This record gives sequence, structure tokens and C-alpha cells, in this order.
Amino acid sequence: MEDYGIGIWSDDNFLIEDGLLKVNYSNKPAFIDMIKEIKNKNYKGPLLFRFPHINLKQINKLYATFENASKEYNYKGKFNAVFPLKVNNLPNFLHPLIKSGEKYSYGLEVGSKAELFIAMVYNKIGSPIIVNGFKDEEMIHLGFIAKKMGHQITLIIEGINELKSILKLGKETKLKFPNIGLRVRLFNQGIGTWAKSGGIYSKFGLSSTEILEAYDILEKNKICQYLTMIHFHIGSSMNTIKPLKKALKESGNIYAELKNLGANNLNSINIGGGLAVEYSQYKRTVQYDLQEFASDVIFTLQSIANNKNVEEPNIFIESGRFISAASSVLISPVLELFSGEYDKEQLKLKKKNPPLIDELNELYLDMNIKTALEYMHDSIDHLESLLKLFDLGYIDLEDRSNAELLTNLIIKKAIYLLEIDDYDELKKIDHKIQEKYLLNFSIFQSLPDVWGINQEFPIMPITHLDKKPTRSASLWDITCDSDGEIPFNDTKPLYLHSVNLKKEDYYLAFFQVGAYQDVLGMRHNLFSNPTQINVVFEKNKIKFKQIIRSQSISDILDDIDYNTYEIKKIFKNSLDNNTYKIVKSYLKENSYLKTTWS
Ligand SMILES: *Cc1c(COP(=O)(O)O)cnc(C)c1O
Repeated sequence: MEDYGIGIWSDDNFLIEDGLLKVNYSNKPAFIDMIKEIKNKNYKGPLLFRFPHINLKQINKLYATFENASKEYNYKGKFNAVFPLKVNNLPNFLHPLIKSGEKYSYGLEVGSKAELFIAMVYNKIGSPIIVNGFKDEEMIHLGFIAKKMGHQITLIIEGINELKSILKLGKETKLKFPNIGLRVRLFNQGIGTWAKSGGIYSKFGLSSTEILEAYDILEKNKICQYLTMIHFHIGSSMNTIKPLKKALKESGNIYAELKNLGANNLNSINIGGGLAVEYSQYKRTVQYDLQEFASDVIFTLQSIANNKNVEEPNIFIESGRFISAASSVLISPVLELFSGEYDKEQLKLKKKNPPLIDELNELYLDMNIKTALEYMHDSIDHLESLLKLFDLGYIDLEDRSNAELLTNLIIKKAIYLLEIDDYDELKKIDHKIQEKYLLNFSIFQSLPDVWGINQEFPIMPITHLDKKPTRSASLWDITCDSDGEIPFNDTKPLYLHSVNLKKEDYYLAFFQVGAYQDVLGMRHNLFSNPTQINVVFEKNKIKFKQIIRSQSISDILDDIDYNTYEIKKIFKNSLDNNTYKIVKSYLKENSYLKTTWS
């Protein structure tokens, strides 16, 4: 049975049982039951389920793996980790995450003033805060204030100017200095979509000349004792470990050189983020595991420290995708199957039809299991000819409608008759007989990386998993934008079930959406966030917490600065009272489509 590659990407977080997709945790709830419960509470449209227990699992795994590797190598540096807020900074995601990391002093990484405010307020005192990105004096001042609040904060310098601002603020405010780190611009380039994060042409970091200059400034101004960290980040989603090894060698040697120059308090290397997760549904693309990664980091840094006779550095890691991707699952109802529109009753054959239409009708009636494939191909050819005849004015609209109906009926009958077991066989006929599944969601809002960078996400239905899917599927969202589509792809084919939506519901789940998608999502066409639900388990019972209803149309309009009072007033003045009431109630709903069941 088709398992949608669940063994490849799900890391045992989900499982298929009795034809249903379930959460592999606690009492193993089925998604369909969770949805029914939410629907009973009158929430409509797409749903985003967050599972904080999966974040906790990832945090535990990260610390345990590095601690084991440290033991194995008798490594003396301490392991530290921070969560980069840009990956997901929404409160309902972040609060449980911070709680999960408490016992490890799991900290936060920030890249902007707004994120720094979040960290200053919600990061636990004693857990590290790392500040990356470009900074002005105000942001650096906030760093001093965070230090005053008791935070263990490190400002990572992206340029010499920032160092000068730190000196200036130290003099002006007389506050205690925060720790200082240097982001190094590596010679070795990263790989993948985010290669620009590393390499000598990188947007970020100091060249070796600038590092020496920075050290000089620190020394001359007698603040060298605050230099504690060397930082690099070679890019997101590293599928192989090789570029990391090179970056470790380069930064490890910079660390050791600076220590030997006299940077006595320099004690840490921050290796940035980039741990990959598996997005592929069909074959593994990530070519290492965490254990190998941890061993490589520790072994490389240890060898350099030994060679250059300096103490082994503490390790900081900023991986965000690895911690958060798996913890959110997007569910979207299927609204329509396009060939589902074609029904035998709609056929209105004339007394005298064009010969090709009569032929189509014969193909339809005579088709059997032996002729199915051939007749199906013939019908597609006939349809193409008939469409040309229509363009030339030889057949009328009624004929054209009959041609489309018959061809679709033939395809459906063929798929039914063939019960093709062999996907290769099915693939041969896929392209022309794709089924379009219309989904009640917006790709721009909920899977922006599909649109932005062609990111693949694991997709599967949450029911029918004991039945063979027979339709090669392309997925359409409800935005009026032709980019709002996930087309069928021969090399990564998605097969879905042929369902009658009048009789049963059909939902698709999208996985690994906990990293970046929430925060990058945009309101193209004014579709808002899906309804968000935190799922927690207490004493083996499932609980829905912090449900945030998808924003109402009125609130969206208000957010983009329309005057909603004015809007309502205009309606009120131009409509009778009853109609006005109805319009007002519609404004309170979200933008997603409503059906009796979705
Ligand atoms: C984006 C970013 C990260 C997180 O990267 P992931 O691929 O999500 O692990 C970490 N550090 C810095 C400096 C970043 O810019």
C-alpha cells in the first residue's frame, strides 16, 4: 500500500494504522478525529496543528547527542544551543519551546531589534542570547540593557563599525559590557540555496584583515576580555557535512590564532545553524545523521585545539529548522476534484452528432478491461481533434461539452477498470489524466517556500490509507494566482484517491511546516493565517490549547489600514437592515471557502 514515504521523512512522529494517519505519541490520536473535534467547535478552513512534544524531542536529541559525543572524545568544552527566532517567532510556538529547553538552558538567537525585545523578555536568565545581524546604536544599547537585566548576551559583530558603536555606548552609558563575538567571513563557501551565507562574497562577517583590526581595537581600548566567541553560519539545510568540516577547520584555526595572540577570554565557537531535515517523500536527501555531525564537530575542534595548544572551545549551535520543522502539520480540506464535475447525467447527445462524438460514445460504452488503456488514449486524441474543430467553427458548444464529458467519463471508467497495480504503468498515462484537487488553503500563506524557492514538502491524505490511490494529482489552492499550484511531477509523483466529496471528506496533510512557513506566510489575495492549534497530551489524553481562530475579513482589512467603521457605515447606508446584518456577519468570517463540511 502507498505509504507516502512516511518511513523516510516522519522520523516516527506519525504512523499509519487502520487506514488512518495518526500521531505516534501518547494515545495515538488519528488526525481525522482531531479534525472532527475542531470542526464541532465551529472552526473552518485550513488548520495548523502544532505539536510541542516534537520540539521537546528534538531538543533532547540535540543535547543528548552532543553530550554523548563529548563524553566519547573526552571533550572539555561545554555544549550550548540557541533557537534562532527568525525560524519561528510566533508566541504560541515559542512559549512551549522555551519551557521545553529550560533544563538545558536552551537560549535564543535574534537578528533584529524586535526579536531582541522578545528575547529580553522571555528568555530565561542564565540561558544565552546571541545577537546576529546588522546593528545600529539603539540595538547595541539594548544589548547593554539586556546585560544589565542579567542576561548572558553576546553581540556578534558583523562589521568594524559595530565594534566602534559598542565602545561608544560603553563610554556613554557606563554600563557593563555584553560579551562580544566576531562573525568570520569564511573562505570556504556553503552549499545549497543559502550558499551566500558563507564564502568570501558572503553578505556577512569579517575578513581576516578585519578580524585582526577588530582585535587591535579591542586590545587598544582594553576591552579584550569581553571577546568570547567566534561565529559562522554557512547556510540552511546542509544536505552533506563536507562544507561544515571545512568551515570548522577555518574557524577553529582563527579561534586558536586569536587565543595565541592573547585573547584570553575567547572560549567559544558558534557554528551557526543549518542542520537539515528530510523534506523528500521518495528518497533520502540528507546524507548524514546527528551523531555523525556531532562527532565531526567535536573531533575537528579538538584536533585544532590540541595542535595549537589552546583550550577546547565551548560549542554553540543555532539550528532552527532541525528543532522546529517537524512540529507543525498543516491540514487542508479538499474542496473539489475537477473531473468529479463530469457526470453521466449531464451528457446531452443529439439525434445527429458529429462522427467523432459518436465514436467517443462507442468507446465509452464498449470499453472493457482489455481495451481500457487503448480506448482511453484514443479518447484523448479525439478530444484534441474535436477542440480543434470547435475553434474552426465546425462543431457547436453543446458538441464540445459532450466531447469533454465523454472523454472524462472514459478516463474515469478506464482507471476504475484497470485497477492498475503497477505505478510505472500508471505513470505512462499520468500526464494527460491528472486530477486537479482544489484545496481550501493558500500556498502563499501556508507554504510560502513552495512559491518562493520551490521547496518540496511531504504531502499525504489522512484517511483512505488502506486503499490504493489511483489519481496522479496536481494541487490547486484557492488564490487567484496561477502560482498557487503544486503541479504533478513525474519524478516525484503524488497519487491520491478518487473520492466522491458529496459523500465523504478528504483532507491532505503537509508536513515539516514548523520552520519558516508560519512567519514567511503572506496575505496574498487577503487570505489570513489558518486556524492554529497547539496539541498537548496530559495523562494520555489529548488537549487542544491556545486555539487561534483564522483572522476575520474585517480584521484583515483593518490590519492593512482600511477603516472598517467606514466600510460598515457605507453598507449600512446603502442596504436594508436585514441585508446589512447578513453582510456584517460575513465580514466576521475568515476568507477561506465555506462548504457544509469544511
Ligand atoms: C537562519 C540562521 C540560522 C538558522 O538556520 P537553520 O537552517 O534554520 O538551522 C542560524 N544562525 C544564523 C546566523 C542564521 O542566519
